[in-house]
Amino acid sequence: MKKLLIVISLLSFGIVVSAQEKKEHPLPEPMTPGMTEYWDPQPAVVQPGMNGGAPSDAVILFGGKDLSKWCAADGSDAKWSVHGGVVTVVKGDAGDIMTRDSFGSFQLHLEWKTPVGIHGESQGRGNSGVFLQGKYEVQILDSYENETYVNGMCGSIYKQTPPLVNAMRKPGEWNSYDIIYTAPVFKEDGTYLYEPRVTVLLNGVLVQNNTIIRGTTEYIGHPRVQKHGNGPIILQSHGDASEPISFRNIWIRNLQ
Ligand code: MG
Repeated sequence: MKKLLIVISLLSFGIVVSAQEKKEHPLPEPMTPGMTEYWDPQPAVVQPGMNGGAPSDAVILFGGKDLSKWCAADGSDAKWSVHGGVVTVVKGDAGDIMTRDSFGSFQLHLEWKTPVGIHGESQGRGNSGVFLQGKYEVQILDSYENETYVNGMCGSIYKQTPPLVNAMRKPGEWNSYDIIYTAPVFKEDGTYLYEPRVTVLLNGVLVQNNTIIRGTTEYIGHPRVQKHGNGPIILQSHGDASEPISFRNIWIRNLQ
């Protein structure tokens, strides 16, 4: 009798369990196209520039007339030569020029050329550079039929990463840089939480693809990690003996 009761109990339990397994839950509602679409906020409207010209939300750093957005390293007025819509490096005491404003992440456009018949070789021909946040150099050099160490040629992150290709134009022709830079984020101890990154197009050709920048640009020694905030754009006046290079059409867009 006792065994019979146990068997009946187990069977009853089995019936309850199988009844639970069969319980039906509501199915997800069928997806409609609108369920994965959202409308707000709408991106700001920007009027694009023509042929490398500045978009409507850009800050014009050099539009061909003056260097009011720039200064020398000591804060005095920039002393490079402005003529005919371009600015040309003045070698010697004039030194580098830097923007009076500081920037975080940005999109930067600039154009430059070396003169026809420029002399010199390797690093001694048309050397300049763009320093991002005042610390990280994207090299400018006349790399047209002019070999040098590859992590120092035009389009390199100087002394760090060579360009993917050599997309230089000849002396006398304008080159363009489009630089998309993501500023670093630092830990409290001053090391990078997120390293700075940069994408560079030289004459519309990709030469740096979201490249990690390992630290400051050093001529001698390894890159250093230095905690910093926003910084200026610096254009380099290099001490090489070649004829000076010229710039035009420099604009920047702040990125959030
Ligand atoms: Mg340089």
